[in-house]
Amino acid sequence: MSNKVHLGHTARKRFGQNFLTDSNVINRIVGAIAPDNDHVMVEIGPGLAALTEPVAESIDKLTVVELDKDLVERLKTHPFLKDKLEIHQGDALKFDFNQLVEEGKQMKVFGNLPYNISTPLMFHLFEFAEHIENMHFMLQKEVVLRLSASPGTKAYGRLTVMAQYFCQVMPVLEVPPGCFTPPPKVDSAVVRLVPYKNKPWPCKDVDLLRHLCTTAFNMRRKTLRNNLKQMLSDEDFASLNIDATKRPEQITVEQYVAMANLVIDKRNG
Ligand code: SAM
Repeated sequence: MSNKVHLGHTARKRFGQNFLTDSNVINRIVGAIAPDNDHVMVEIGPGLAALTEPVAESIDKLTVVELDKDLVERLKTHPFLKDKLEIHQGDALKFDFNQLVEEGKQMKVFGNLPYNISTPLMFHLFEFAEHIENMHFMLQKEVVLRLSASPGTKAYGRLTVMAQYFCQVMPVLEVPPGCFTPPPKVDSAVVRLVPYKNKPWPCKDVDLLRHLCTTAFNMRRKTLRNNLKQMLSDEDFASLNIDATKRPEQITVEQYVAMANLVIDKRNG
């Protein structure tokens, strides 16, 4: 059966459209999201409303951001959703989530994300972290493994450090390709991200932390000393009690933040 006949909509590859069709998986994701009226509920990329319908069922209002104009038209005329949805047509990467903030309410954000924009979108959302209670995203399984990795493992890298700087990261469930129409080429997984209200290791300049992580992980097989020699001396590493002969994946988030803060202090004299 073609996608069009099955869904009544031709899936657009450029918008990363793989629609969830497995009701068991849908129920489990909605259970993890735990929709309620005490939060501003926000969905990114509602598509054909596989998650939108069951989430909206138990709440009064759901805000959605969808890029595809055809899908927005369908949502606007949807028999029961049209009265509950606040629809924003546009690119979630450029969306100002501050405009959704309501007095005394935190946001719960969720979505089965187009995989090509998932990493930049997460970083975009981290900018609004103070207003976000939690986020549930369907991602490539490989990305979930990287987000939730521990130091010393192959999956641990720049993405891990940056995500765990902002959030607690918990894998929720794995989702095989057959649960989608059309099926994606890769395995998927749902992750829960809980932004820290008080960061355990605050950094004085997040852009610098990002730059330091990129530089450190540039050559994973080299030592920290080698990769970061433009930024930190042997004395610097010693003062932080960090073994500079270690590989970048052996260094904790706390240690990355300590290194970034030292670079900042040195710059500020
Ligand atoms: N939530 C639906 C589901 O689970 O079946 C659809 C998921 S599909 C993987 C991704 C959805 O995000 C599509 O509806 C697509 O049109 C939309 N989308 C793609 N890029 C987007 C962007 N930059 N901003 C907002 N929505 C986007």
